[in-house]
Amino acid sequence: MKSVLQDTKECYFCHSTYYLENHHIFFGDPNRKKSEKRGLKVWLCHNHHRNGPYAVHKNRESNLQLKEMAQTYYEQNIGTREQFIVEFGKSYL
Ligand SMILES: [Zn+2]
Ligand SMILES: [Zn+2]
Repeated sequence: MKSVLQDTKECYFCHSTYYLENHHIFFGDPNRKKSEKRGLKVWLCHNHHRNGPYAVHKNRESNLQLKEMAQTYYEQNIGTREQFIVEFGKSYL
């Protein structure tokens, strides 16, 4: 499944098109698979993904920002908050 959150292949945060990596917004078992199934993933540059001070795997705020955005999409396009919690374990909103 391709991303439902992005039309262009660029870093979600800085719009860079270099060193892009695929990030599943709800990661870890078993959420990664569910993120894949729903297309809840984004392209991130290496600095925003794993390495920089604002990288989502290091920075709690960046991580939550994406999760809130993805849950908002879910509630507007896929299902209710209750369904979201059943699927992904908790609400981020
Ligand atoms: Zn970036
Ligand atoms: Zn990632």
